[in-house]
Amino acid sequence: MKKITIAIDGYSSCGKSTMAKDLAKEIKYIYIDSGAMYRAVTLYSMENHIFTGQNIDTDKLRHEIKNIQISFHLNQETGNPETYLNGVNVENKIRTLEVSSKVSPISTLDFVRSNLVAQQQLMGKSKGIVMDGRDIGTTVFPHAELKIFVSASPDIRAKRRYNELIKKGQKIKFSEILENIKERDRIDQHRTVSPLKRAEDALLLDNSDLTIDEQKAWLLDQFKRVTAE
Ligand code: C5P
Repeated sequence: MKKITIAIDGYSSCGKSTMAKDLAKEIKYIYIDSGAMYRAVTLYSMENHIFTGQNIDTDKLRHEIKNIQISFHLNQETGNPETYLNGVNVENKIRTLEVSSKVSPISTLDFVRSNLVAQQQLMGKSKGIVMDGRDIGTTVFPHAELKIFVSASPDIRAKRRYNELIKKGQKIKFSEILENIKERDRIDQHRTVSPLKRAEDALLLDNSDLTIDEQKAWLLDQFKRVTAE
């Protein structure tokens, strides 16, 4: 069967990663969480005196970006890929609310985007990949055979993210999560470089009222349809 490229974009915390990861496992494709790469650059910036308070030392980051190595390795126990920053597993560290509150400003920087987009394109050059993010169908893989744009209401997304973080033992307030989601949507949609928007040829999926299994089945159907064409 021919291998294709699958681009899944959409708003923060709308379940893109879950559906992308599940599909990749099912069809034995590589899964890449592009948001994890922006989060890793953000974590590096926080730990290396680049992002202090509200300020980003863009000159320092521009200079150091070539030293930021991001890779993904499979966790044999869970079967899921985990994010490594310069050889260190940062999967949990990049998911904190602090990183979430700083990642969108980092993602507006053109040199960060061009660096990460080039890496993402290299990862997908042999196809057989599912990548999720904000600009995958528009910028990273504009010729992807299957493009999905996912959305759900901010309240539903905040509830899902809140439950996920509480399960991981993080102490957070629901209102903080909701605020963070709305703020990230605003920055992601209005930035100059590759703003979050639906590619013209992307299928729209509002999963507000769908279970994980229902959206999984829908996505698998889309994959079968495209690969049968
Ligand atoms: O997908 P996730 O919520 O982990 O992404 C974190 C942030 O990274 C997003 O809010 C967005 O600012 C940025 N991002 C991006 N382009 C992508 C993926 C993520 O700008 N392709």
